[in-house]
Amino acid sequence: MLRMPAFTLQQPASVDEAVRMRAELDSLYLAGGTDLLVNLKHHLQRPAHVIDLRGLPGLDGIEVGADAIRIGALTPLATVERDARVRDIVPGLAEAVASIAGPQHREMGTLGGNVMLDTRCLFYNQTEAWRTALGKCLKADGDWCHVIGSPKACVAAQSSDSVPMLTALGAVLELRTAPGEVREVALADLFTKDGRYDRMHTVPRESLLEAIRIPRPAAGHRSTYRKVRSRQAVDFPQLGVAVAATFDGRTCTAVEIVLGALLPSPRQLPTLDEAIGVEWTDAVVEAVADRVRRFARPQRSIHGDPAWRRHLAGVETRRAMLYLRP
Ligand SMILES: Cc1cc2nc3c(=O)[nH]c(=O)nc-3n(C[C@H](O)[C@H](O)[C@H](O)COP(=O)(O)OP(=O)(O)OC[C@H]3O[C@@H](n4cnc5c(N)ncnc54)[C@H](O)[C@@H]3O)c2cc1C
Ligand code: SF4
Repeated sequence: MLRMPAFTLQQPASVDEAVRMRAELDSLYLAGGTDLLVNLKHHLQRPAHVIDLRGLPGLDGIEVGADAIRIGALTPLATVERDARVRDIVPGLAEAVASIAGPQHREMGTLGGNVMLDTRCLFYNQTEAWRTALGKCLKADGDWCHVIGSPKACVAAQSSDSVPMLTALGAVLELRTAPGEVREVALADLFTKDGRYDRMHTVPRESLLEAIRIPRPAAGHRSTYRKVRSRQAVDFPQLGVAVAATFDGRTCTAVEIVLGALLPSPRQLPTLDEAIGVEWTDAVVEAVADRVRRFARPQRSIHGDPAWRRHLAGVETRRAMLYLRP
């Protein structure tokens, strides 16, 4: 039996009160709890207080405006997955969300919790007894990274399925960083290169995600998400490939490719000139797939041989491009 450490449940009445509590108390935020409660049972974190965000006003729901889709952080994944407007305007996001965990998790789990998800590692997401037997690592109570064999950094994998797609779509986060203070941060700028819980974000640790804003894509938008996992069932990604493109007729006018589950941050291809201003012929698709394969540098922090996952980065890019090309 995995027992949770004792904590006091806090139920703030406002977002400002929640942020103040997180800053002042030894505490963590709880949304749907589908990841956090498992981590607490593994004693990966032992906060004295857990701050329940459910019930806070204004954090739930999907608004579709002329310029953007705004999704409240507490919106359940299942709501995002089922929303006909999301499926129509940004199909890749509906695909990515539908690939997360299982149906029950998606009813409980929220989009905000998925964006703020802790990084994962074979040497970390284990019971306390398992970790003690091996020797605890840098991310939880130890001073050594078993993956890179050094005390310098944690390379646990950013393992959210929505993050690569939201990054490719240019999503912006509305974060309450202090009482009365909302900061807008591009999702592409949220992550650091360090997978440790208190170091993985570029914003203060008490930041509370209020909403995710996705700019409305231009006419001719197409997007898709390809997920590699050991079983086509309830499983975290071993690799995620998000592709968002715009076409004018058969000619591509813009494209973003973002890879997930490699490192503590999603990896966005810096330039894709060979795929823009041209039709996606087989030769273009092969050239891009080959570049993505060379760009991907998976670590041994999660299941799946890194060379195999690197090869699949090219394979899944090819599949995504062939699926999207008009
Ligand atoms: C068996 C299993 C399989 C899973 N498979 C997948 C998978 O395939 N893909 C995947 O992406 N995830 C997977 N998950 C993880 C999880 O279900 C999802 O990531 C879910 O979206 C997390 O949302 P939540 O609301 O439950 O977050 P919580 O568990 O409540 O919180 C997750 C983290 O985010 C923080 N947080 C939550 N909300 C906010 C906020 N508004 N502001 C600031 N911080 C916040 C919490 O403090 C915590 O650190 C799986 C989980 C399980 C148990
Ligand atoms: S990457 Fe290293 S420090 Fe990070 S969780 Fe894994 S073993 Fe621990």
